[in-house]
Amino acid sequence: MAGKVSKAVQKEAIVTLEGLAEQAQGCQRCGLAQGRTNLVFGEGDPRAELMFVGEGPGEVEDQTGRPFVGPAGQLLTQILASVGIDRKEVYITNVVKCRPPGNRVPTRQEMDSCWEWLAAQIALINPRIIVTLGNAATQKLLGRPEGIGQLRGRFFRWKGGIEVFPMFHPSFLLRNPSRKKGSPKYLTWLDIKAVKDRLSLLRSQSQAS
Ligand code: URA
Ligand code: URA
Repeated sequence: MAGKVSKAVQKEAIVTLEGLAEQAQGCQRCGLAQGRTNLVFGEGDPRAELMFVGEGPGEVEDQTGRPFVGPAGQLLTQILASVGIDRKEVYITNVVKCRPPGNRVPTRQEMDSCWEWLAAQIALINPRIIVTLGNAATQKLLGRPEGIGQLRGRFFRWKGGIEVFPMFHPSFLLRNPSRKKGSPKYLTWLDIKAVKDRLSLLRSQSQAS
C-alpha cells in the first residue's frame, strides 16, 4: 500500500479544500441553489482517514451551513463517540450540498450535478474508508441495485483503494428507535465497531509495509 503523503502535500491539500469550499459557495448547478440559506460544504479534518457521506442538509444544517448538526447529526455524534471517535477526527459531508425542499430525497440529477464537489473532496482528503449513510449516498457511490438493508455492514472496494462501508442513516434510526437484537440501531452499533476495527487494521498494515 502507498505510504501517507508528505507534510507539504498535506498542507497544500488543506489550502485546496478551503479554496474548493469557497468556490462551491456560488454554485448554481442545480435548482436546489434557489432554496438554500447556506450551502453546506462539509467539515472536519482535511487529512481524515474516515469520511462520512450523508444525503443532504436538513433545516438546521441549511441555517448554520454545517453538516449533521440537527437531531440526526447529534445521533451521528453519539454513534461515533460510542467507539471513541471524535467528530473533529473525521470529515463529514453530504451527497448534495444544498437542502432539498421539505427534506425530500435528492434527485438523481441533483446528485449528479453535485458529484464534482464530492469527488474533489474525496480526492483531496483521500480517506481510507468512506461510510455512506443511507440509500442515497450508498446508491450514488456504489451504484448497486440492493437497498441499504442488504448493503450495510460490508466493506466494498472503491476507486483508488478506498473502501466504502454503508450504514443506516441516523434519521432512519430516529424513526426506528428500538435497540432490540437485530434492529437497525443494534446493527449500527455493531457497524461502527467494525469501522473502528477495520481502520486499526489498515493503519497497522500500512505501518508494517
Ligand atoms: N441528514 C443528512 O443527510 N445530512 C445532514 O447533514 C443532516 C441530516
Ligand atoms: N432509507 C434510507 O435512505 N436510509 C436508511 O438508513 C433506511 C432507509
